Amino acid sequence: MRKRMDRSARGLFIKSNYLRSPKENECIRKKLLKDDYRKILTTDENTRIDDNFEMWITQCRKEWSKFGRHNPVKIKKDDPETHCQMCHQKLSSKKYRVKNSYTDEILWIGADCFEKIINNVEGLLGAGYNQEQARKFELFKRENPEIISFVSDKLSDNALYILPKYIMDHEANVLSEIRKYVKYHVISGSDSNSKLEDIYSEINKVSVRIKNFIQRSNPVKNISSDWAKQIINLQAGGKRIINSISENNGEIDKNIASRIKFHPFLVQYVNGMNSKWNDLHFGVRGNSGITITTMFDNKTFVIDVPSEVVISKLGYPGSFNDVNSSQDLLNVLTYRGATVNDSDTRRNLQLIAFESFKRSHYSRHDFSLGEVTKYISERERQMTDKTHVSKKRFESKARKSVFYQVGNYYVDLNVDELQQFGMWTLESHKFMVSDTLLAQQAKVSKDEILDDFYQDMQFAN
Ligand SMILES: [Zn+2]
Repeated sequence: MRKRMDRSARGLFIKSNYLRSPKENECIRKKLLKDDYRKILTTDENTRIDDNFEMWITQCRKEWSKFGRHNPVKIKKDDPETHCQMCHQKLSSKKYRVKNSYTDEILWIGADCFEKIINNVEGLLGAGYNQEQARKFELFKRENPEIISFVSDKLSDNALYILPKYIMDHEANVLSEIRKYVKYHVISGSDSNSKLEDIYSEINKVSVRIKNFIQRSNPVKNISSDWAKQIINLQAGGKRIINSISENNGEIDKNIASRIKFHPFLVQYVNGMNSKWNDLHFGVRGNSGITITTMFDNKTFVIDVPSEVVISKLGYPGSFNDVNSSQDLLNVLTYRGATVNDSDTRRNLQLIAFESFKRSHYSRHDFSLGEVTKYISERERQMTDKTHVSKKRFESKARKSVFYQVGNYYVDLNVDELQQFGMWTLESHKFMVSDTLLAQQAKVSKDEILDDFYQDMQFAN
C-alpha cells in the first residue's frame, strides 16, 4: 500500500536536516517544497519515499526538541503566529516552540505536530540509530533488496504449502543471522563481505529446500493411493482421470477437477476428514462444496470451501503427514477460495478484530453528519459560495470506511479490509497479526479526514 504523506510529515521532511543528503534525498526534499510535489516526483522517487518513510520520520523527529521556558503558550487574539510553521494548519489554542538541533531553526508549531514529533520515535525503525547509521542502513537496503525481501516477507509466507519444521527452523536461523549482520553493519559500520556471502548462500539453501519440498508434495505419485483408489471407485472413467492427473505433472487443474463427480467425492472426503479431526467438523453442501465448522475463542466459525478447491487440494500435502494441527489444516483449506457466508461467523471474525484493536488502544470513531457539517461551515465562514452537505453522500462515504482512533490520530479501514484482518487473526491464533497490519496503516489527523469528506462533498451536486 502506498504510504500517505500527511501535511505534518511533509513539513517535517522539508524543515529537517536528515533529507539534505545524499543528493537524491535532497532532490526529493526540494520537490516537497513545491505545491505540485505529487506531480513532479518521479516513480523512482516515490518508491524511495515508500521504502524509507519510517526511517525518515524517525530521524527527522529526533532532530527536534522543546525549546524555551514558556512553552506551550496560549494563542492570543492578536497572536503574530496564526498557523503551525511545520504543517501550515491553523493554530487552535496552544502553540509550542521547538528547535532543530542540526539547523538551529526555531519554529512555533501546533499541538498536533508537537505530539507527533516530540518524544515520539519509540518503536519506530532505527530509533536508536544516529543519522550516519540511518543513511548506511538506507544504502544497505537499496543495495541488498533480496535480503530485505527475505526479512520482510519470508519465503515461507509466500509458499503454497505449510512447510515442514526443518525448513522453518533453517529459515529462522538465516533470519536471525541477517538481523545480527544488519545490526552489526549499521552500528559499527564495519563491512564484512564474506559474511554477506554466507547469508546469501544460506538464503539460497532455504529456497532450494522449499523448491524440493514443493516438488515432492505436488506430484500425483505423492497423493495417497487411497485417494486415487477412491476416485476410481466413485465413478466410471476414474482410471482415465488418474492418468490425466499423472500426465499433467500431478496437477489437478480446473479441467480435470470438473470431470470428478463432486457429490460422491465430497461425501467420501468429508467422512474421511471427520474421522481424522476432533475439533473440526466437515459437512457437504450439495455439489457446491463443503463447510468446515470450528470453535475458536468460544466462538463458532463456519467456512465454505468450493468443490473445485477441495478437489484440487487432493495432492496436498500427500498423506497429511506434515499437518500438525487442525489449525494447519484450516490454513491449507482457506489458503484460497474459501468464503465466509455465515453471518454469525462474519460477526465473530469482526469481534476478534475489534478485541485486537482494543488491545492496541484503538477505539472506533464514527464521524457524524453534524461533525462534518460544522467543519464545512467553519471552513467556509468567509466564502459566499457554500457547499451543500448531502446526507446521502455523507452516509455512503461513512459506510465504506471504519475509523479507528488512537491518541489524536485515525486509521481508516474499509469494511473489506476489516474482514480480512479478522480472518488473519483467526488463523494466527494470536492477536499479533492484525496489530502488525494496523501498524502499517497510515495514521491521519481528524482535519485530514474531514478535509477528505469536504472534498468529496464538492462532487455531490
Ligand atoms: Zn502542524
